[in-house]
Amino acid sequence: MARSRKTSGHRPSASRSDTIRHEDAFPRNEVIRLEQLRRIYGQGDAAVHALAGIDLSVQEGEFISLMGPSGSGKSTCMNILGCLDSPTSGRYLFNGVDAGTLTSKQRALLRRNYLGFVFQGFNLLSRTTALENVELPLIYRGVPTSERHELALDALQAVGLADRAHHTPGELSGGQQQRVAIARAIVTRPIVLLADEPTGNLDTARSIETMELLQSFNQEQGITIVMVTHEPDMAQYSNRIVHFRDGCIEREERL
Ligand code: ADP
Ligand code: MG
Repeated sequence: MARSRKTSGHRPSASRSDTIRHEDAFPRNEVIRLEQLRRIYGQGDAAVHALAGIDLSVQEGEFISLMGPSGSGKSTCMNILGCLDSPTSGRYLFNGVDAGTLTSKQRALLRRNYLGFVFQGFNLLSRTTALENVELPLIYRGVPTSERHELALDALQAVGLADRAHHTPGELSGGQQQRVAIARAIVTRPIVLLADEPTGNLDTARSIETMELLQSFNQEQGITIVMVTHEPDMAQYSNRIVHFRDGCIEREERL
């Protein structure tokens, strides 16, 4: 009998068979494709090959960890995935669209409509409440006020912080601030969530809470996650670990 596989996202289970692997029979949507991606900083003798030819394919519903030594190119890769930077050569396809062919306005729309971001330092606005922080991406999208409140409250509820909606970040613990940041990232229902060391500033208990939250959004809402982490324990929450070294993918590990 086929080994039952850890599933992610909402996949129609009725079509699964014991003999044919589901993903073989019904290929999932490839949300991210990197082809021979290179990013060179500087020129001539001073050139730094931050990414030296990366090939990577991420399917919808995957939860991926990027690991590797400091300076191996993880953040450079995340910046390109987030459309905050462009490769020197090679291609980045998002949902089949070559990001290199988009105008800067289209790239901004891609970020706003399809991507969510979570950072190590939370990056919340300090003078505004948790609710207002979570509402911010909806304001950019032009969502009307009452609907905005409702969606933001739902998102805060989903991270267990509905009762802290009117607190400012300074009135919240680090773990709570990261949960607000996660609510802000998922309130727009992104296709892909990009998280650069989301537990880097948290203690172990808060890190585990954060990873359980990310895992639940991956499994229950099917949000694809690409996360950078230094911590093997946190990488265990993902489905695949991609190991970087010297701007290249050294190996991949399926969990
Ligand atoms: P990681 O996130 O894995 O620690 P980075 O992607 O930040 O690695 O960096 C990869 C390499 O690119 C490093 O050698 C770093 O010094 C270099 N680098 C990163 N950003 C810049 C930049 N803006 N200008 C020049 N070199 C950079
Ligand atoms: Mg980095």
